[in-house]
Amino acid sequence: MKGLVFTGNETVELQDFPDPQAAAGEAIIKVRASGVCGSDLPRYRDAEGSKGIITGHEPCGEVAEIGPGVPSGLRVGDRVMVHHYAGCGFCDVCAMGFEQACQNDRVTYGTGAHGGHAEFIKVPARTLVHLPDELSFEAGAAIACGTGTAWNGLKKMNVSGRDTVAVFGQGPVGVSGVVSAKAMGARVIAVDISPERLEFARQLGADFTINSMETDLIEAVQEITSGHGATASLETSGAGPARAQALEVLSYFGRCSFIGNGAPSTIDIRGEVIRKVLTIFGSWTFTKAEQIEIARFMVENKVDLDALVSKRYSLDEAETAYREFAGGATGKPMITFDN
Ligand SMILES: [Zn+2]
Ligand SMILES: [Zn+2]
Repeated sequence: MKGLVFTGNETVELQDFPDPQAAAGEAIIKVRASGVCGSDLPRYRDAEGSKGIITGHEPCGEVAEIGPGVPSGLRVGDRVMVHHYAGCGFCDVCAMGFEQACQNDRVTYGTGAHGGHAEFIKVPARTLVHLPDELSFEAGAAIACGTGTAWNGLKKMNVSGRDTVAVFGQGPVGVSGVVSAKAMGARVIAVDISPERLEFARQLGADFTINSMETDLIEAVQEITSGHGATASLETSGAGPARAQALEVLSYFGRCSFIGNGAPSTIDIRGEVIRKVLTIFGSWTFTKAEQIEIARFMVENKVDLDALVSKRYSLDEAETAYREFAGGATGKPMITFDN
């Protein structure tokens, strides 16, 4: 089969790999959609690339083969998402379905083991989550990382119709935060420095958009909220100034979820967190149980996740997908497979 490898300094290559075979407890997924994610970019830009490993950590598809000893709840042909980490399967965090925090030989698919930008992917059967029939494979791929991460950051803050939520960064995770916060009933302020990304957020339902390069952000949020500030903020960009602003825009007793990766940065604990009595959450993707919950939420609230996908590429076109995305393209790029 063909699989996509990062070959260093923003180059990619489709290479030949043997078709994977399911050993005991494993399943082979025929990939139908595989998301391109902001967290791929550091490795895409790195001089060493993905070191021969097939990239892509957001695969979604159909079970093509199951190995011996897989419980009967999983069958060939099932539509599945992948909770894209495998720990030991037995320690405390693994038992909670949070295998990404396992301290015993954890792998992340797409970085430490072959990922989803290929015709097939092999994973432990226990890492699979059934995809509801109402959701497309592309929606499943989005939920499996960026969209689920945004949703879970909002869940931690218990966002509801009583909230005005400021979402910082309008890349794929940020716009997922916009549609999720809208579906939870909140008023949403989308913040970015790209006019194209802000326009996309507006099309997806953001009530307000603010370009923080052109406008005094704090003033603009004060105006929207009659001088009170936003009640919640979701920081997806990982940029230091945005992290500080994600606290500055908040009202007294506001909440903030930090989900954007990035370099260490400084926040004002006394002036913002203590004096404004803020609650701050960190959130790292989601547990397997939450992945099920997220998919159900999207179905029950009829969230149009397909609208997040700005452009579809074949595996042969993956080079273009990464070049455009690394250049700041708007929306969620998706590698899709016709079969
Ligand atoms: Zn991702
Ligand atoms: Zn473990």
